[in-house]
Amino acid sequence: MSKIDIEKYFKPNLQDARKRNKTDVHELQFELQEKHQNIGYLKTYQIHTYGCQGNEADSEIMAGILEKMGFTKAETEDESDVIILNTCAIRENAENRIWGELGRLKAYKRRNPNLILGLAGCMAQEEYVIERVLKTYQHVDLVFGTHNIYKLPEYIETSMFSKERVIEVYSQEGDIVENLPKVRNHTYKAWVNIMFGCDEFCTYCIVPYTRGKERSRHKDEIFKEVIELKEQGYKEITLLGQNVNAYGKDFKDMDYTFGDLLSDLDQIGIERIRFTTSHPHDLDLKTMHAMRDGKHIMPFFHLPVQSGSNRVLKKMNRHYTKESYLDKLNELKENVPGISVTTDIIVGFPGETEEDFLETMDLVEKADFEGAYTFVFSKREGTPAASFEDLTPEDEKKDRLYRLNEVINAGYLRGNQRFLNQTVSVLVDGVSKHDENILAGYTAHNKLVNFKGDKHLIGSIVSVKITEAKTWFLLGEAV
Ligand code: SF4
Repeated sequence: MSKIDIEKYFKPNLQDARKRNKTDVHELQFELQEKHQNIGYLKTYQIHTYGCQGNEADSEIMAGILEKMGFTKAETEDESDVIILNTCAIRENAENRIWGELGRLKAYKRRNPNLILGLAGCMAQEEYVIERVLKTYQHVDLVFGTHNIYKLPEYIETSMFSKERVIEVYSQEGDIVENLPKVRNHTYKAWVNIMFGCDEFCTYCIVPYTRGKERSRHKDEIFKEVIELKEQGYKEITLLGQNVNAYGKDFKDMDYTFGDLLSDLDQIGIERIRFTTSHPHDLDLKTMHAMRDGKHIMPFFHLPVQSGSNRVLKKMNRHYTKESYLDKLNELKENVPGISVTTDIIVGFPGETEEDFLETMDLVEKADFEGAYTFVFSKREGTPAASFEDLTPEDEKKDRLYRLNEVINAGYLRGNQRFLNQTVSVLVDGVSKHDENILAGYTAHNKLVNFKGDKHLIGSIVSVKITEAKTWFLLGEAV
């Protein structure tokens, strides 16, 4: 590969990604150029999505752009002209899976040399990933990051006609792009981005480097999108952001925050409003009151805590203590009686002692969570925690995870048992994984319910009498 080739690539730069210079956020309007409108005529695409809801929403945008260019969705990889892997960098195993996928897809490239194989998402924002793709994965034609999805038409044009390799990743604070087309995965529930990026810089997390600084969409753009969804008959929206509670903190010309947004969206009248994900130190009373007074804001809150040890929370740079977290949680429960709260917890953070872990167990006991995502610490290159001394053996970490999950699972069951013999409203989301005649859906408290019913109910909200509570789900009968 010549020196000139290397130079034409826009490669990520961790130093730049770390910067927060208060540069202005520009609001760009997406527009498909005429020359790109039929590039995809009689051609097909596939997008494989990994990781969080934010990536799912980005994949809906990539599909929207490709379909606006004339591409149609392919049933199989074999018949695809474009395959994009929209990747996640949150943990090592997520990344290893992608290297495996890229290896597997090499055969397709051999069979169809015109296949355009693309890598997108958070992994594309990492320096070592680009070096590895350049060195080892020659069959990857296109790499673009989280800040320049809207430039996909250009990249497809270059890959398709000049056969040149495109590697274009911006390590920047980031802008906001509006008017983006979407192909939504569902016709009754939708993701709605309200903000992008994160400035929290938790020491174990790669997101502030891969997603840029916190920047909020203008409320009018969000209203417009939600009103359109309501008119199209959508039943549920989930507001997305790495830290939705920081919504509006970056507005210079108005005092308008997450609680205001929730209250205003509640007026639009879409049946169910959810949001993810939150950070305790930005959670405020206005948000709690919006949930208390709202008609359509679901009584469910995912509030990551990560650890119960103040020493570990400090090393994680989480900006709260065990005590302040519990105070805020109790305040939330007082304001929204019966609310269901789940969390995220990391065990085995570098330097975590058995005493620290017992602090986490004690917090879990006191918090009475109704579920949690629990993980063993995963070192992310480029984050501060990657260089922290870590002497705890993996077995010990796994043992802590096992002990923690026992308590968390009891919380799941307790959270489900409180709905026994009650009639709840369920948004039917599909058929059960295990039985075609059994429908699956979620209650207002985000509990999974399985019950007998006909497929035509998918996408509608039905009443179900709960007859049995299991650890992971409820069983019921439609009434
Ligand atoms: S708040 Fe969440 S996304 Fe932001 S740095 Fe912390 S863990 Fe990562």
